[in-house]
Amino acid sequence: MKKIIACMIIMLFLIITLTGCKQMEKTDSEFTIVTSFYPMYIIAKNLVQGIPNIEVNNMADQSIGCLHDYTLKTSDLVKIEKADVFIINGLGIENFTTTITDNYPEMKIINASSNITNLIKENNITNAHVWLDIENYMKQIENIANKLASIDEENSSKYLENSQIYQEKIKELSKRIKELTKQRKKCVSFSESLEYLSNSMNLEIKTITAEHEHNGISAEKLSDTIEYIKNNNIKNIILDENTPDNNAQVIASETNAKIYIMKAGLSGNDDLNSYVDIMNENLKQVEKMEE
Ligand SMILES: [Zn+2]
Repeated sequence: MKKIIACMIIMLFLIITLTGCKQMEKTDSEFTIVTSFYPMYIIAKNLVQGIPNIEVNNMADQSIGCLHDYTLKTSDLVKIEKADVFIINGLGIENFTTTITDNYPEMKIINASSNITNLIKENNITNAHVWLDIENYMKQIENIANKLASIDEENSSKYLENSQIYQEKIKELSKRIKELTKQRKKCVSFSESLEYLSNSMNLEIKTITAEHEHNGISAEKLSDTIEYIKNNNIKNIILDENTPDNNAQVIASETNAKIYIMKAGLSGNDDLNSYVDIMNENLKQVEKMEE
């Protein structure tokens, strides 16, 4: 009955051609974790290592990136309906959460950022891309592991053990980065998605626009930016690989600044080491930068 109601709700909520409600294949012994998007997916993958009968599914396609303007699809709700727990980044990235709680009031939702206090705010709006701050990222791992341990009690010790193992890995990464980024470097960025790298990589980042995933800046902002870079003797421009900006080329040619492509860790493959690899690639870029 519950399944039938849920299926009806899906159909009512979404005016999308349906091929029919799929039969749920879940067995009782299986524990299913669904994550909202890629950064959460990689944490969950690390935390379930060695646990039998467990499944981790990412709700959004792994190439989607950030979910700010994301509209839930029928296939997303089908995935979520099968979930025992749904993991979100929180801080406003998943603006569809109320749709999920309305549809599935029983759903256990883990907010990975629940007690993170080291937040970057601009005009009272919190920058939600906290995972690029390594300390915050470790908090997210801990938050998720603790909640999973209390929800799936049978495997409680395993989640906590995996959390320790993964956090050790991240600590090593952090140590390495700290050793190689002793000099603070100034840069201009065009995407708020990279702001938390300031904490991880000892960067002084001036973000030119607060808009997310914009497609270029106005002529006025362009000339202001060029002036700002010249006046402050800034040598580095950082771009999020997912938000290419043609104006950056103009700015670079008008100033002495060079462009560095950075990763916000918003998409990738199933590799457990993905976050570490992404940060190491960012580190390589930072090492090339001038002070
Ligand atoms: Zn974003």
